[in-house]
Amino acid sequence: MKTSIATASLAGTFEEKLAAIAKAGFNGIEIFEQDIIGFEGSPREAGKLVRDYGLDITLFQSFHNFEGLPGAQRAHAFDRAMRKFDLMGELQTDLLLVGSSVSGDALGDMDRIAADFHELAQRAQQRSIRIAYMGLAWARHVTDHIRAWEIVRKADNPAIGLGLNSFHALAGKSAPFSIGSIPGNRIFVVQLADAPSIDMDLRYLSRHFGAMPGQGDLDLVQFMRQVASTGYSGPLSLYVSNDKFTSGNPKTIAVDGYRSLLNLADQVKRVEPALAISVPELPDRAKAYNFEFVEFTSNDKNEARIIGTMLHAMGFRFVGHHISKAVGLWRQGDINIVINTESEGYAYSAYIMHGTSVCDIGIRVDDALATLHRARAMGARSFHQPVGANELNIPAIRGVGGSLLHFIDAKSDLARVWEIEFTPQTTDNPPEDAGLLRIDHIAQTMNYEEMLSWTLFYTSIFQCTKSSMVDVADPAGLVHSRAISAAHGDVRITLNGSETHRTFAGQFLADNFGAPVQHVALATDDIFYSASRMAGNGFESLEIPANYYDDLRARFDLDAALIERMKSANILYDRDDGGEYFQFYSQPFFSGFFFEILQRKGSYKGFGARNARIRIAAQKKNQKLTSLPRN
Ligand code: MG
Repeated sequence: MKTSIATASLAGTFEEKLAAIAKAGFNGIEIFEQDIIGFEGSPREAGKLVRDYGLDITLFQSFHNFEGLPGAQRAHAFDRAMRKFDLMGELQTDLLLVGSSVSGDALGDMDRIAADFHELAQRAQQRSIRIAYMGLAWARHVTDHIRAWEIVRKADNPAIGLGLNSFHALAGKSAPFSIGSIPGNRIFVVQLADAPSIDMDLRYLSRHFGAMPGQGDLDLVQFMRQVASTGYSGPLSLYVSNDKFTSGNPKTIAVDGYRSLLNLADQVKRVEPALAISVPELPDRAKAYNFEFVEFTSNDKNEARIIGTMLHAMGFRFVGHHISKAVGLWRQGDINIVINTESEGYAYSAYIMHGTSVCDIGIRVDDALATLHRARAMGARSFHQPVGANELNIPAIRGVGGSLLHFIDAKSDLARVWEIEFTPQTTDNPPEDAGLLRIDHIAQTMNYEEMLSWTLFYTSIFQCTKSSMVDVADPAGLVHSRAISAAHGDVRITLNGSETHRTFAGQFLADNFGAPVQHVALATDDIFYSASRMAGNGFESLEIPANYYDDLRARFDLDAALIERMKSANILYDRDDGGEYFQFYSQPFFSGFFFEILQRKGSYKGFGARNARIRIAAQKKNQKLTSLPRN
């Protein structure tokens, strides 16, 4: 599998980019004239530097507005092309990408354009150079690969072939199905880029909001299946332009890019086994069934007691001590919550970094070891720490904000971790069970720039779907939110990206130095039962203003008595085509962490995003109250 990335997709100096690209695992780069202009040495030295990093130059960019020009302009276009050929000779690279002309002076006659390329290809051939011609969606005449292929065919020279680009084929809506009829050996390069489905000018979308395959909404697998059917075996090259990337860390962008290519090629290979591109053998993306546990770290006795008191009020029972560590287990329904108060090891270092917070999430998968292998192949960092006698070595990787993800399966002893590693305990005054059954979702907070990275992280490891981004209006600024939902079970993760530290999510992020889990949502099958049991145990829910319920009456055709019941228990409501959603919240504690209790009715798919604004306003009010002097 030949992989490549355009240097223009990364920030940094030329050499910083090369180092990041080589380290991430790519074979080649698309080099730009700007790379040479900004480079201190000669073009020949630039080419050597690329090869010193073990990279090939897949192609040279960029050359535009060549074809269909009249008179003197045509002669000038050929002169420009010859200068590019000279430069390519210095760089020692042989493929020039030519984008279809956007010039207002370009003539649209197909025979004339083909004749220009026939002549260019003849001159290229004399210098062992090849031309890849690409139809750009915003070009003057040749706006897609169908027309570009017509030109290539008519130009009739082995030195000219087609350049394909997924963005132009998919966002330009030019029927990617037509790719299958092109011979694979006439396709000289395949560029890949994804994009969100935003209704905007395609050129602007491509330049500012491009995304790695899997980060956006385009059907890249469909595009690649078409490419596969041609027998194409050349490089897959990322050409992605995004303001966040060109201001971001080149190492992160390169790692994400490589992960996105490998994940895409792997998915295509599974549905097109005859794919001519050789793809490394990998375990398939894991089936994630449910959250097995959530672990809090807290070395502060008082704070650990606060979590314990909160869990008690929510109906959790303390059921066990770890056989060798200062770790306690709380349980209700299928929910396991672990509190770790160790003064060494990973949990302690997480406490030093973030204070009392969620430091570890356990996910039950079909095969824990295969999941670890898949994650590592996708560039995730595995995690190990010494295990004591009779303890299990549970496969783990680093996740968002340096937190941990552990994988549990039913194939091995891993599913028996609670019996093996914990000594059962009973307590004298157990709380009333509140009917909480399972963890429904976990909400992670991050800087907006990181959302695309973590989207790719989860979607390349687990079989899951991602929702489009929605904007949650915090009174202090926008928070972008997206849900990752496992295809086979109850694992849902919402990613919330804050653009500013003034939002409630952004404040949480700043106060916790990147602590990722801001809330854990627990599901019940009877929200009113759970609310009343929890109230009986001393739980205080987040108070929702009365106006919310007046508005609810106006928005939904709901029974007045039902609204009164919701109001008395601070329960919020939402509905979609499939069903209903009821939710209430704990008061925020520590630096803004909170629990959510919810009930899904029917096949409601969302997370109550419509209510987020009310929730955030209530939390902010509550924070102000708790920060008042207490004398
Ligand atoms: Mg939620």
